[in-house]
Amino acid sequence: MCGIVGFAGTEQAAPILLDGLKHLEYRGYDSAGVAVYSPSSGLQVKKAKGRLEVLKGLTDDGRNMEGTIGIGHTRWATHGEPNDVNSHPHLSQDNKIAVVHNGIIENYVEIKEFLLSKGVCFQSETDTEVVAQLLAFYYRQDGDLMMSVYRVLHRIEGAYALGILCADTPCSFIAARKDAPLLLGYGKGCNFIASDVTAIIKHTREVSFMEDGEVALVTSDSITVFDALGRKIDKEHSFVEWDISAAEKGGYAHFMFKEIMEQPDAVRKTVAPRIKEDRIVFDELKLDEAYIRDMKKIFIVACGSSYHVGMVGKYNLERLIRIPVDVMLASEFRYADPLVDEGTLVIVISQSGETLDSMAALRKARDLGARILSIVNVVGSSIARESDHVLYTWAGPEIAVATTKAYSTQLVLLDMLGIWLADICGRISIEEYSSLLEELKRLPEKMEMILKNTEDIQYFASRYFNHDSVFYIGRNLDYALGLESSLKLKEISYVHSEAYASGELKHGTISLIENGTLVIALSTFLPLFDKELSNIIEVKSRGADVIALTTCDMAEELKKTVHNVLCIPRTSLIFQPSLGIIPMQLFAYYVALQRGCDIDKPRNLAKSVTVE
Ligand code: GLU
Repeated sequence: MCGIVGFAGTEQAAPILLDGLKHLEYRGYDSAGVAVYSPSSGLQVKKAKGRLEVLKGLTDDGRNMEGTIGIGHTRWATHGEPNDVNSHPHLSQDNKIAVVHNGIIENYVEIKEFLLSKGVCFQSETDTEVVAQLLAFYYRQDGDLMMSVYRVLHRIEGAYALGILCADTPCSFIAARKDAPLLLGYGKGCNFIASDVTAIIKHTREVSFMEDGEVALVTSDSITVFDALGRKIDKEHSFVEWDISAAEKGGYAHFMFKEIMEQPDAVRKTVAPRIKEDRIVFDELKLDEAYIRDMKKIFIVACGSSYHVGMVGKYNLERLIRIPVDVMLASEFRYADPLVDEGTLVIVISQSGETLDSMAALRKARDLGARILSIVNVVGSSIARESDHVLYTWAGPEIAVATTKAYSTQLVLLDMLGIWLADICGRISIEEYSSLLEELKRLPEKMEMILKNTEDIQYFASRYFNHDSVFYIGRNLDYALGLESSLKLKEISYVHSEAYASGELKHGTISLIENGTLVIALSTFLPLFDKELSNIIEVKSRGADVIALTTCDMAEELKKTVHNVLCIPRTSLIFQPSLGIIPMQLFAYYVALQRGCDIDKPRNLAKSVTVE
């Protein structure tokens, strides 16, 4: 959601900024802009609604903007419609200060009224513009930009990552953050800020992560960081290990397809290092065994697909560990009164590690005394840093907005955690443990088997892509699988779909089934195969077209009732959703392809949701 990049160096800034923004496109945006400074042309701002290509056209790929220092932004509108004027950077009335912002200034109305009463005129409808105008207002009083920045930060409320460029101090720009991601990049003769590392990895792998309350002064040869009280601090530097090619399409038409194909490998990378001598080993977890044995409850909080991982987790962890497992949407949890205390392990799941609602839920759980374990993909992200314990999914960078490989790695890691905890609590037999471990090791190759043979999925997608509404039904783990399958379809193909626990259909939703309604029946949870079969017959007898998903050994049985059957290899009960999701991701992908949708960047969606 929204991207920020800033550059100070000796090369022309605008092409570098535009290239950086290109790599942030996947986060989702509706407009883009850059501000650069040069001694001959002063502070120049170019911005435009729509794709980055529009801005590139406007600036001749950045070539017609002089200057070696600048800031850039892709906006995901929260306040004010996406249009040229509301795009960032925003300029102060005296045209001296340009600001880019990610987040929401919650008290912007009060500040705007104050500034209006002082005669300041506003151009845009955004909350962000108050930052530029307030800063210019204080700067006129103080004559010291840094001091004025601190005054602004004390006055504004909400979440922000900020980039600030001022025509009076053109050798540097300022960055600040609170509750929105921002990192610093250290290059050779140049330095950067960015919302994430994909924007700058071409230029440098040496980064540090800004913490809430910190302010940075960036020039071409130095980055100086100050804490919330203005004291200089030393930042720990990290080195990004993955390669730029991991964030490029590598010949695939879409990132989403590439990432679907990468799942076996991503799961392998997540699982293999954590199996040693036929035991699951989490070297990174410092959870003591006494705590685990005394644990009264597990609470999983997450949003979107990560929440669906949590839904699978509820079934699996309760089955394995035999203690209560609650799952709640982070956006609900943060404003609820959840039953969480010292005896609760709260598991926060987030791909980006920056999801604002999950972050707020984490802090709430911590205040209630819980231990926090997070499952996160982005190393060094805010959620990872604020958790007591972190398990990283080694999915590599995920660029498509609709998650696939991050989801799969989260799922498998949560299952592994469940087995590990069950073993410590003495709730799992030696035989079950080793049979689960064997299946865990074989998961990547079973995923590969599904990915090698996608013709049936493509065929069903081409046959049903023009349906307006799809129902996913399933029981137990298949219900949780249905939730994620349905979300994938909605996200990228814009087809309305719903996931229902099959047993719930007759309590209302079955009234929507009519001749030709497409129902995708998930029947991979074999203990309830017969129950699911009855539900399939119910919807068929009301005219539904059914596509069913089951395990290969049950396909013939199912074909007696359903014409369209997709099958996946059999694995242990708890891992079955890890295989079941793959044909469902592919189905959503091929439907979206047939419908001509913008698969990697679906409308209205953002990759990392850093606003409420
Ligand atoms: N709230 C700001 C706006 O609507 C920033 C949104 C963003 O993070 O892109 O302009």
